[in-house]
Amino acid sequence: MSESKTEAIVIKGNESAACAGELLSTRFESSERLARAGKVLAVAWLLALITAFIPIAHFFLVPLFLIAGPVMAFMKYKAETVLEKALGTCPECSKAIDIILDPADKLPKRTYCPDCNKPLQLMYHDGSSK
Ligand SMILES: [Zn+2]
Repeated sequence: MSESKTEAIVIKGNESAACAGELLSTRFESSERLARAGKVLAVAWLLALITAFIPIAHFFLVPLFLIAGPVMAFMKYKAETVLEKALGTCPECSKAIDIILDPADKLPKRTYCPDCNKPLQLMYHDGSSK
């Protein structure tokens, strides 16, 4: 089963002191990662099959999807922990913020406050990128 995890992070602004925040992520078991990777491969190869019927475009789309399928599936399988979002308080405008993260994101990450648009940096307490 996948499990959700909450970690303490630091939200830093350019002009003011850092604020405490929380990082929500989901960790996947190897069987789930395999299932997720299988789905990616199936979709890519299905696209290869569909594009095989498009004249001219099939010359590059079919090989592209055939090659991209296993590559994307492998990357999906390698992703043990997927970042969900960061919660906390903006150090610049003191409002509660809720930043949706990309699954491929890694900390430290530069982003913007959804409220005041000032640049923010999300990082772990020890400053490492894990
Ligand atoms: Zn703000």
